[in-house]
Amino acid sequence: MTAQDKVIELAKEAGFDNAAKLDPKTIVLHEQVREMCAEGKCNAYGKNWTCPPACGDLDYCRSVIARYSEGVIIQTIGHLEDSMDYETMMDTAHRHKANFMKLAPQVKAICPEAICLGAGGCTVCEKCNYPEPCRFPEKAFSSMEGYGMLVSEVCTENGVPYYYGENTIAFVGCCLLV
Ligand code: SF4
Repeated sequence: MTAQDKVIELAKEAGFDNAAKLDPKTIVLHEQVREMCAEGKCNAYGKNWTCPPACGDLDYCRSVIARYSEGVIIQTIGHLEDSMDYETMMDTAHRHKANFMKLAPQVKAICPEAICLGAGGCTVCEKCNYPEPCRFPEKAFSSMEGYGMLVSEVCTENGVPYYYGENTIAFVGCCLLV
């Protein structure tokens, strides 16, 4: 079994609703995504080591991604009662984070050079220690958006659905493997 297949298996065991192959060569990083981060709507821009600008400029992020030859897209899908069902949205977000925290160390155990990118910046600490040194650099994780990825585009380019129909929400992350 390849590392990629093993990560897909582990992702499903961890609770992700979908896990599928990702080709890092399909990943395009966009300045526009960074501009959205800079608007500060998620309150992490300039406040977290794993978010812009601290996670590095797009050329740096491109150089990181270029190290990887394969990857896995991971998704947690929520089924809402209606478009105002914030409780299920939050539950799905928490489920995605819990799945991610379970999977990431397992991926590192198989492939120590791997990186896992979540949905949203690192939340290992209740409050990031930025600009003081990161407390847990070995556990810290960035997000796909923080790296400048358009998540829907990465899914589409790899033949993975991003939209699961009316009143659904999908949280997406990925693992990149050497
Ligand atoms: S591990 Fe803690 S200090 Fe380091 S990036 Fe994550 S939240 Fe910030």
